[in-house]
Amino acid sequence: MSTNSGKGPIGPQSQPQSQPQSQPPRSCDRVSVVRGDITEQHVDAIVNAANTTLLGGGGVDGAIHRAAGPELLAECRAIGGCNTGDAVITRGYQLPAKNVIHTVGPIWQGGGAGEADLLAGCYRSSLILAAKHGVRTLAFPSISTGAYRYPLEQASQIAMRTVTRHLEADPSIDEVIFVCFNERTRDAYQRALDAELPIR
Ligand code: ADP
Repeated sequence: MSTNSGKGPIGPQSQPQSQPQSQPPRSCDRVSVVRGDITEQHVDAIVNAANTTLLGGGGVDGAIHRAAGPELLAECRAIGGCNTGDAVITRGYQLPAKNVIHTVGPIWQGGGAGEADLLAGCYRSSLILAAKHGVRTLAFPSISTGAYRYPLEQASQIAMRTVTRHLEADPSIDEVIFVCFNERTRDAYQRALDAELPIR
């Protein structure tokens, strides 16, 4: 395929590449699924499943704000909010991750309110913002499948399809990790990744 388009990273560089660089690794080879706590990930950026106020909440949002410390809330307050499906970036403060990308997932309303497009938009907006800020390693939680009640199987398929397709067109991101908080979520995301494998 093509070489790097010249959109060079401006942030910290990731580890040296270990494989020949004639072609970027296939998108599926740059995606993994783990069970864990996203606040502990040593990546360039973690993604937060925030709400439109950006003022913190429960679930993964609360965990990220607790781990990052009060300066994160201050920066979010200054940003002023985020629309559903969009994303904004802040520093990571006390987190091991240098940055936090805050995206707002849709609240499940039965599927007829554009939820699938909005959820795909969360992943796309986060990846675009990541690339713009030189992020090479990125961790996502399972957006919308907690308090926002998006059905897990559908959400995991949308997440995986959107991310793998985006990575095919964007060689600047080296690694995307889906960090799942429980086994059921991890299994669903692993199945969704496996489903992308045969065609890529
Ligand atoms: P939403 O409002 O978008 O549904 P939630 O935070 O309620 O967001 O849930 C999203 C997912 O994040 C759920 O699968 C939940 O189990 C998971 N989660 C909660 N805490 C963490 C954490 N510390 N690390 C990773 N995932 C987490």
